[in-house]
Amino acid sequence: MHRHTERDRLSRLKAELLRNTDPAAHALAAELAACGVDWGGRYRCRCPACWRCRRTYIQQQQRAAVAWVDGLNNADLAFASIVASGDTDINRLGETIAGLPRHNRNRIDAERRADPERWSNVALRAWIEVDAVGGDQIPLLGSSRRSLLPQIAPIALDQPEPTWLATYHGIVYVGGLNATEIGDAFRRQWPLAGQVDVRPLDQSRTVEHNVADIVSYANKHTCTTTVGTIREPWPISWQAAYYSMIAHRRNAFEFLRFGIGSSYDSTYIVDEVCTNGYEDDAMPFVYSSIILPM
Ligand SMILES: [Zn+2]
Repeated sequence: MHRHTERDRLSRLKAELLRNTDPAAHALAAELAACGVDWGGRYRCRCPACWRCRRTYIQQQQRAAVAWVDGLNNADLAFASIVASGDTDINRLGETIAGLPRHNRNRIDAERRADPERWSNVALRAWIEVDAVGGDQIPLLGSSRRSLLPQIAPIALDQPEPTWLATYHGIVYVGGLNATEIGDAFRRQWPLAGQVDVRPLDQSRTVEHNVADIVSYANKHTCTTTVGTIREPWPISWQAAYYSMIAHRRNAFEFLRFGIGSSYDSTYIVDEVCTNGYEDDAMPFVYSSIILPM
């Protein structure tokens, strides 16, 4: 998307947030307005709704993910996409998102109990994406999503708000397993057709290129719904509802990602981050415990 389009979208979002009665919406509008303006232009709002901070965040996550896979090959990794569940209430969707890391960890723990030898190495870095589908769009969805949707979420009919869906995209270190085995295991947690997609990486490209693309894809925030062959932009009220919900979280980018370490990693969980204050060109997130057993 072109920069001026992003600026237009941001202006419309700020205006919509200010029409809202939610104090978090007003606070978010103020943050977005201050980004690139306050502190002599150096202030960064660190909001996923902000194209400037999103771009910086994606670059930081790409660097971290590429460092994470250092020394690995495409065959050591897989790309996982999971459609978890949905809700017509955006705040309840927030609770679903908050529970995703635990559900994933429980699944991997269960596999490790059953087969510690083969599952101990498996590790994951994932980013959560929210999709939205309006009641009038449901008949136009692709057939697999159309049949999945009513099984995982209440359907938004006769109401202005959509059905919100929590999805995540992740890079899996398969640790001697393969993408099919990882997919089979995840389907024990998310058993419906179309809920789990785990595939090998593109062998014709470098591992760094593949990983950077997954990070970019998983954090795209296009705020569109794909219906048939076209992508319809979310109404601005949906964007305001979504970004206000995540603005309630202490660190919205952190809320939208998680990691699971190999069981050899003494810290085990890789989603612990520390902040080191502001930097001009980097998001202030430093992974302190990302270790892959080699
Ligand atoms: Zn910003």
